[in-house]
Amino acid sequence: MHRKHMIPALERYKELERQFPDMLELSVEGTVGTPGDQFPVYSFRLGRKFTNTAEGHCPTLLLCAGVHGLEAIGVKVLLSFVEHILAQSKWNSSIHSLLHSIKIVGLPLLNPTGYFHLTRANSRGVDLMRNAPVESHEAIPFLGGHRFSSSLPYYRGKRGLEPESEILIRQVESALETSPFVLSVDFHSGFGFEDSLWTPYAKTTKEPPHMQFFSELKRLLDSTLPHHVYTFERQSNAYCTHGDLWDFLYDRQFQSPRFGNLLPLTLELGSWTWVRKSPLSFRGLWNLFNPVHPHRESRVLRRHLPLLMFLSAVVQNNKSVFRRFERASVG
Ligand SMILES: [Zn+2]
Repeated sequence: MHRKHMIPALERYKELERQFPDMLELSVEGTVGTPGDQFPVYSFRLGRKFTNTAEGHCPTLLLCAGVHGLEAIGVKVLLSFVEHILAQSKWNSSIHSLLHSIKIVGLPLLNPTGYFHLTRANSRGVDLMRNAPVESHEAIPFLGGHRFSSSLPYYRGKRGLEPESEILIRQVESALETSPFVLSVDFHSGFGFEDSLWTPYAKTTKEPPHMQFFSELKRLLDSTLPHHVYTFERQSNAYCTHGDLWDFLYDRQFQSPRFGNLLPLTLELGSWTWVRKSPLSFRGLWNLFNPVHPHRESRVLRRHLPLLMFLSAVVQNNKSVFRRFERASVG
């Protein structure tokens, strides 16, 4: 690979793997891009030394960032959480007990081509979050996806799944095959003034089958972190789209009795405040999706650690948290 393809966030993961060989394991899930411009897509697993005890049917927290290449801040928020866990693993026994009882896995940067070239889409101009074979029957705005041309934003691709989409699907399905309970967080930025936690669906304004689970999660979040900053709502309250990969994965769980419960969340970091506070933001598209000033970036990186620790604890305690509810099913 050409030297110009060094991506600092991924280099930092490799450095952490060298520093914490018992705790962090990276794997290459595939190579994406064009023949002269290729990038590996990595997955990670935390708590490697606990593999023997945590393997098999233990609940999973699955974290994914960089689906939209331009939204670099999400990649950094996920990396800061990984660093937070690793630093504590040296001295905090409650982190050991967490990693004994749950798996924390993820994709640190699903769309490295877009990240490197500062584009939302992948190398073929496809918006991965519009790429799934899911049709919405709602009135869809232009940002909801189209098949006209890869030179326009929100392009869904002609037909079929992009390699990055296939990697995400494999990652989630392999978690669902070995876990009775998977909670996922996909990190994005750009939409709105506030940070939002979105539950399914993007394709419809109808309730997802796990609505009771999501309502309980919101109730717990409100009582556990009473001053939290999140608007917890269905994605369709913001807008509907075709082709949402999480809609596709969410519905797939009901097609196989082998799969456990999947609760997918999208953390959408509202960037419009950064734009309003920093006229610099209008200098480039990148700045519309990422904080420009270092102090603002630091604030964003520390802001979401309590949420991610809370969600880890929910995964660890999922049986007692959701014990009143039946396994959700469709129809
Ligand atoms: Zn996004």
